[in-house]
Amino acid sequence: ISTTGLVHIYRAHGHDVAALSGIGITVRPGELVGLLGPSGAGKSTLLQLCGGLLTPSAGRLQIGEHNLATMTEAELDRMRSGDVGIVLQGAGRNLIPYLSPLDNVRYAQQAAPRDREVPAAIDVLELVGLREQAESPLTALTPGQVQLCAVAVGIATMPGLLLADEPTSQLDHHARDEVLAAIRTINQRTGMTVLLITHDPEVAAALPRTITIRDGRIAAEGRSGEEYAVV
Ligand code: ADP
Ligand code: ADP
Repeated sequence: ISTTGLVHIYRAHGHDVAALSGIGITVRPGELVGLLGPSGAGKSTLLQLCGGLLTPSAGRLQIGEHNLATMTEAELDRMRSGDVGIVLQGAGRNLIPYLSPLDNVRYAQQAAPRDREVPAAIDVLELVGLREQAESPLTALTPGQVQLCAVAVGIATMPGLLLADEPTSQLDHHARDEVLAAIRTINQRTGMTVLLITHDPEVAAALPRTITIRDGRIAAEGRSGEEYAVV
């Protein structure tokens, strides 16, 4: 991910809301980076821009080979269904409740571009630690396992980039640690780049690098434990 001067303005009820007012960040291939900041800072907006779910109002946004400012809707579609995985807020929002984890992963893989090679669905579930629950109904899973399934669906096509919006919120500590461990495992074993939003200081402390935004601007950046303010 590489952005310079990234701006996003929502037009709501006849007035403009500047959610991002010039963001420059770089996330290198294979990095695991946390995106922090208070509610309303612009974190979700930045994540959705990186995933091609929103279009930048101004500035440069490069995701791997893709320059998002110049992509057509068809190219964005292709990117979203293969190259970038997204886990949105609210456990299970990207899941089909009447399918098992295995079928949820297979379903996500069917949307991938035809020329893209995808791993066996069971191997994706193995990677997140859900092999034993692969064929259980989603209703039989714990909230933590549902979230692991959401992560598995996000990485079903083995995208180069995983974007996750608060993947550990609303979970107890044990489940939170399991989801975080799964994301670290994915990052370390496959080299997938990960950008994840978190409000949880303990999660942030466990990440190798964090970027903090406030009022649509970068407020701080740093290695874990040594964040420094950006002036
Ligand atoms: P969080 O702070 O946890 O990221 P929010 O409560 O800010 O989430 O936003 C939840 C949803 O509401 C998002 O989809 C966001 O796009 C939408 N939203 C937030 N603020 C507004 C607003 N002022 N007008 C319309 N939609 C909004
Ligand atoms: P965060 O994820 O850090 O909580 P968001 O990216 O959700 O922040 O929101 C950034 C700002 O943009 C907030 O002021 C929010 O109210 C506003 N916003 C978010 N989504 C929308 C929307 N769909 N329409 C209008 N304003 C929005």
